[in-house]
Amino acid sequence: MSDAPVQRETGRVRVHALAVDEDELVACVACGLCLPHCPTYRVTGLEAASPRGRITAMRAVELDGMPLDDSFRRIMETCVQCRGCEAACPSGVRFGHLMEGARRSLVGAKGAPRGRRRRLAEWLGYQIVLPRHWLLLALTWPAWLAQRLHLVPRRFGLPTLSARSLRTHLGADPDPDVYLFTGCVMDAWQRDVHRAALTVMRAAGARPGLARTGGDCCGALHLHAGRVHLAARLARRVMTSMPGDAPVVVDSAGCGAAMKDYGQFLGTDEARAFSARVRDFSEWVVEQPALALRDTGRDVVVQDPCHLRHVQHADGAVRVALAPAYRIHVTDDDGLCCGAGGAYALLEPELSSQIRLRKVAAIRRAAGAAAPLVVSANPGCAMHLGAAGLDVRHPAELLADALGDPHDGNRHDG
Ligand code: SF4
Ligand code: SF4
Repeated sequence: MSDAPVQRETGRVRVHALAVDEDELVACVACGLCLPHCPTYRVTGLEAASPRGRITAMRAVELDGMPLDDSFRRIMETCVQCRGCEAACPSGVRFGHLMEGARRSLVGAKGAPRGRRRRLAEWLGYQIVLPRHWLLLALTWPAWLAQRLHLVPRRFGLPTLSARSLRTHLGADPDPDVYLFTGCVMDAWQRDVHRAALTVMRAAGARPGLARTGGDCCGALHLHAGRVHLAARLARRVMTSMPGDAPVVVDSAGCGAAMKDYGQFLGTDEARAFSARVRDFSEWVVEQPALALRDTGRDVVVQDPCHLRHVQHADGAVRVALAPAYRIHVTDDDGLCCGAGGAYALLEPELSSQIRLRKVAAIRRAAGAAAPLVVSANPGCAMHLGAAGLDVRHPAELLADALGDPHDGNRHDG
């Protein structure tokens, strides 16, 4: 099935080159209030790398008949899709939808072909590897070996792979009252985070189960890349893999954001019901009165993943979940993106590392004189910041470290 845009008519007003909603496209009043919240604008100072500039470019194509060319492609592809602009916009412009529509239209657009290497990398990643979890797991073994032989530079951001972790399946309850969604890349590369999450869930008195076959790739990366048909197929597969009405706990902010949006994306009652079951891990934790934690006395700097803060609006839950056990420090950059952006760090390495420099500086300011221990609820952000030399852990790992005696610990009061 092709992901190419559907039509190109030569109407006087609208060209239909982009798969965007016209009301959303014209909602921007060009006030510029979103600009300080845009990481690519902050590091380049270029209007074309700002939300306003990107919307202007979309309008030029859609309403003025400008071509879908290479320059348009660059303006769209440099966007991290962090949606910091959307959260800051007083006019309610739904920038995420606009960008997804523009990306969708760029897939296979004749006037703006991608470079051969990038096309090959995207085809391999999106079409071949991510939808086949067995293949991703198989490919992780050579990566593990290369890492052992010190052939993988740290700047690549690959977390330390563990043969023991890869070999050992996660235990699941046969009669679950809650699911833990384990995803694709995270299951292959950060399975110990899932182990910590399961430990915490059991300590809270839950019976966590895992998705059946097909409950791996959620399609978030495909959706961001404009590959909507494959994203929809993966979304349906994920929904089928976790039947019933038990809550679906997600310990990856990017996946959770996508799964909470299945209802809107697929537009069916089934998808809406599924989305209503989805909780970020920390959101679920703060609803558990039986979870007892001891005060570790440790300081931790919170990094808010964009898809937790700007899309799920659940960044507060991480602070609340950790507060009984850790001293929380926050950065002074108003939640500016770290530059990870799903596959963005791989596809746009220069911009991505420039953006990261600002985030690392903000984290160090928040930590003061001490070497920072950072907590991030998104695997992509954790890998990206880890590649810059920071010690980054998931809220589940920090909570598992702080599990205490239920009779003398601090409790979550829900
Ligand atoms: S997207 Fe919103 S905040 Fe940004 S320029 Fe347009 S109206 Fe203003
Ligand atoms: S989504 Fe993020 S990177 Fe893209 S325009 Fe908005 S603020 Fe900038």
